[in-house]
Parts: sequence; C-alpha cells; structure tokens
Amino acid sequence: MRFLKTALAATLFTATILGAPAFAQEKGTVGVLMPTKASARWIADGDNMVKQLQDRGYKTDLQYAEDDIPTQISQLENMVAAGVQTLVIASIDGTTLTDVLEQAHNKGIKVIAYDRLIRNSPNVDYYTTFDNEQVGVLQAQSIVDGLKLETEEGPFNIELFGGSPDDNNAFFFYNGAMSVLQPYIDSGKLVVVSGETGMEKVGTLRWDPAVAQARMDNLLSSYYGDKKVDAVLSPYDGLSIGIISALTAVGYGQGDMKMPIVSGQDAEVPSVKSIQNDMQYSTIFKDTRELAKVTVNMIDAVGQGKEPEVNDTKTYDNGEKVVPAYLLKPVLVTKENITPVLVDSGYYTADQIKP
Ligand code: BGC
Repeated sequence: MRFLKTALAATLFTATILGAPAFAQEKGTVGVLMPTKASARWIADGDNMVKQLQDRGYKTDLQYAEDDIPTQISQLENMVAAGVQTLVIASIDGTTLTDVLEQAHNKGIKVIAYDRLIRNSPNVDYYTTFDNEQVGVLQAQSIVDGLKLETEEGPFNIELFGGSPDDNNAFFFYNGAMSVLQPYIDSGKLVVVSGETGMEKVGTLRWDPAVAQARMDNLLSSYYGDKKVDAVLSPYDGLSIGIISALTAVGYGQGDMKMPIVSGQDAEVPSVKSIQNDMQYSTIFKDTRELAKVTVNMIDAVGQGKEPEVNDTKTYDNGEKVVPAYLLKPVLVTKENITPVLVDSGYYTADQIKP
C-alpha cells in the first residue's frame, strides 16, 4: 500500500513537472492532408500546422496529394485505418470524400475542413477558413481602385478568371468579386469584351496556371486585335503569373502598352515581386499561421470534449448541413502596403521578397 502511494505520488509529480495535467487524455496523431506542393501557400499551411500541433504535444502525419483525387482519397483511407485522432483536410475536389468520411465517422474520428469546404457529407464537424466572399470583394475593389473607376470616364475592358469549379471557395471568390464589378458592367463602364462571364465559362480547373495562360492567349488573339485589355480579375497568384505571361508575350508592359490591372491571391513570393515590378497590381494576404492556430485550437477543444470557438454558423452549407466555421480576415496587398503587412508581421523577410 505504502509502495502504491509512493508510486502514485511519483506519477503525479512527474506529470506536474512536465507541465501536463495528471491523467490528461493522451494527445494522439492528427492527420493533415494538403492538396499540392505546386503552390507555396499549401507548403506554408502544412509546415505551420505541423509545427503548431507538435508544439502542443500532438503527433502528426502530413500528406500532399499533388492535386490527384485518388491519391488524396487513399491517403485518407490509410489514416482512417491507422486510427488517427483528428483529420484536417484541404480537399482537392470537395465533393469526392463522402465515403471515406463516413468510415472516419464510424471510427469516431473528428473531421475539420481546412480552408476549402468539403461538400456532400454530414461528417464534416468544423470548417476553418478565411472570409472567402470578402476575398473576392477585395480583389474586385483593387481593380476599381487601380482603374480609378470612380473618377475616370472609361469605358475599360476587363476579362474575368475564376478558380477551380470543384473548389467551393472558387464560387465565393467569384461571387464576391462580381458583387462589386457587376454594377460597373451593367452601366457600361466596364466591358467584358469576350462576353465570357459566369463560373462555367471562366473557371480554371485545378487552379492550373498553364490553363489560365492558354485561355488568356486565346482571349487576346480572338478579341483584342484592335483593342486593349485594361484589367483582369484573377483569383490566385499562380493564375496571375500565367495571365501576365500571356500579356507580356504580346507586348503589354512595354512602351505605351500599359500593363492591365491584374489581381491575385495568397501573396506568394513571385507575385509579391511582380507587384513591386509594376506587373501584377494586387494580391490577398491570408496569414496561414493564423489559420493553423485556429485549427489547432479547435482540435484541442474537441479533444477535451469542449465546443470549439466558431464565428459563423450560417454561411457554409455543404449540401448536407451548415458546417460551423471560423472565418479569418483576408488583407488586400498592393505596392503601398507590402512592407507593413508582409514584412513587419514576420511572414517574409525583406530579403525574401526583394525583386
Ligand atoms: C484557396 C486559395 C488558393 C486556391 C488555389 C483556394 O481554395 O482558398 O487561397 O489560392 O485555393 O490554391
């Protein structure tokens, strides 16, 4: 008995000096699934998630699927079979995970949709993301500002690009942007010369820069023989780079061919440099450190049987349920605020983004 008491005291003592509450539930493995390494933002997301989870005592399994849907599904199946504690998923195609999420649910594994909503499944517990509609509003607002639409007469020519139609976010970005642009299109101040509008026409499957570049090449040769493009709505920096390549190939940005106002998203390094070189006009900064933080907070709360903090319970209907969400604020970046937003916050060093 005496021995038992001593052993118990020793256990409590060890747990206390290690900073863990005595008898706390052991922190398990969190499976983190990211879509691709082809874009720097997802690499930053993966790294931030792993670091913050490990800092809080979790084990992690981070997987990238190179934008291949079957690969992501089999990564998920393996994690479910291995019995991870929680799944954090940035999906490639948000409609393809219904079966595997049912398996996860049957094993009691909680699922957090990360950045992109997972559709057509009741087994999505929470969603952490940025205010995606606001991303689109800011992108379009930067075009309004860049063209000085409030004071200039116009009309101005614009072409529209959307994100991947299998990514729920793409519709929020596009609709947010159109809520700002449509009145100018209706009044004739902005003219979509190609006439191509709506996600069915302007979507870019898998967010592929080469697809955007090819479409911009086509638009330029089919519709702009004797006209100039003044602005391009682009929802993501990778697409902006492709679009800008198509524009520069036919002389934009040289002599009297002014570079059109081109938007973007993610504040990826090549685009931040391009903004400083007066090629791209704007991008949207989404602080992936913050996204990781709210996601890890959620995992902690769920693990302790508590309700995690959410700040939106009505926007994200996935076809089966409205998924409770935590939305972070996106920030518009132009040449004027690169240093305060991206360098002073410690996201990049001044050297990293030097053009
Ligand atoms: C993300 C964007 C990103 C895009 C392409 C979207 O789901 O929200 O930040 O630009 O995917 O990777």
